[in-house]
Amino acid sequence: MSDHFDGKRFFNPHVSTDRSVADLLRWRRSRRPVPWPRYWQDEAPFTPVPVSGNDIAATYIGQATFLLQFSGLNVLTDPMFSLRASPVAWLGPKRVRDPAIALVDLPPIHLVLLSHNHYDHMDLPSLRSLCDRWRPLVVTGLGNGAYLAGKGLAGAIELDWWQSCNPRPDVRVTFVPAQHWSKRGLFDRRTMLWGGHMLETPAGRVYFAGDTGYPAHFHDIRRRLGEPDLALLPIGAYEPRWFMGPQHMNPDEAVQAHRDLGAHLSLAMHFATFPLADEAIDAPVLALAKARDRHGVPADRFQVPAFGTPVVC
Ligand code: ZN
Ligand code: ZN
Repeated sequence: MSDHFDGKRFFNPHVSTDRSVADLLRWRRSRRPVPWPRYWQDEAPFTPVPVSGNDIAATYIGQATFLLQFSGLNVLTDPMFSLRASPVAWLGPKRVRDPAIALVDLPPIHLVLLSHNHYDHMDLPSLRSLCDRWRPLVVTGLGNGAYLAGKGLAGAIELDWWQSCNPRPDVRVTFVPAQHWSKRGLFDRRTMLWGGHMLETPAGRVYFAGDTGYPAHFHDIRRRLGEPDLALLPIGAYEPRWFMGPQHMNPDEAVQAHRDLGAHLSLAMHFATFPLADEAIDAPVLALAKARDRHGVPADRFQVPAFGTPVVC
């Protein structure tokens, strides 16, 4: 029992992200999604960069998947390389662009940060391939490790919000709150914890937000763990606001989060990969530019990474 666990289910301390079946039906009936292209071809293929002593290289692969490289470590966030974000291979949201780096072309992966169990973030085929190849350490929230073990993926480290582990003596990972929820099957709503990760490394601090609505916890993260040198923040899947608002930030809130965190550099994620909500494929990026202007944030402080192009900071 805690301020976010009632003995059976986890919950958000300040806000409910639950949507009733009636809400879901209302959205399904009333939604007017802007159509996405069926396929989007990225121009530049992935070219690895040398990563020296105090550098962090972040390469956006799609959805919430980044390759992070620093101090001899290769880290993946929410590895998702499958065609569909769905429990079945033949139905459900289908990606419109290939992963910017194919799984077989990755460098050896040492560590995986897993934010929560939604299908666009926790992809069992991707995790199985990674584990077969490199046996990376997986760090995730309470309940997800037991779920993965039941699927043949034992050994994940489970953390409650604000708990930490050291994958290497000089690297600390802290699981931090997010305003979101979880669900994999029919009867497991909010039984596995969701969150983000703060990585403290010899090359600086990296914050990976996972999926989150806009709440007060960015201030807490900054106060307890310090300003991140690099923040990976979601900007997509936000329309319509009455339905998506509590669980997914819009670009304006993402810029506010960047400021609340005091991030030195933020990179956008969770856009233009899977059609999950009602906005156009390019709407998050256009809205982010407007939001940066409105908040007086320079474009080089909150960038939209090109898919597959490393950003070194
Ligand atoms: Zn989610
Ligand atoms: Zn998501």
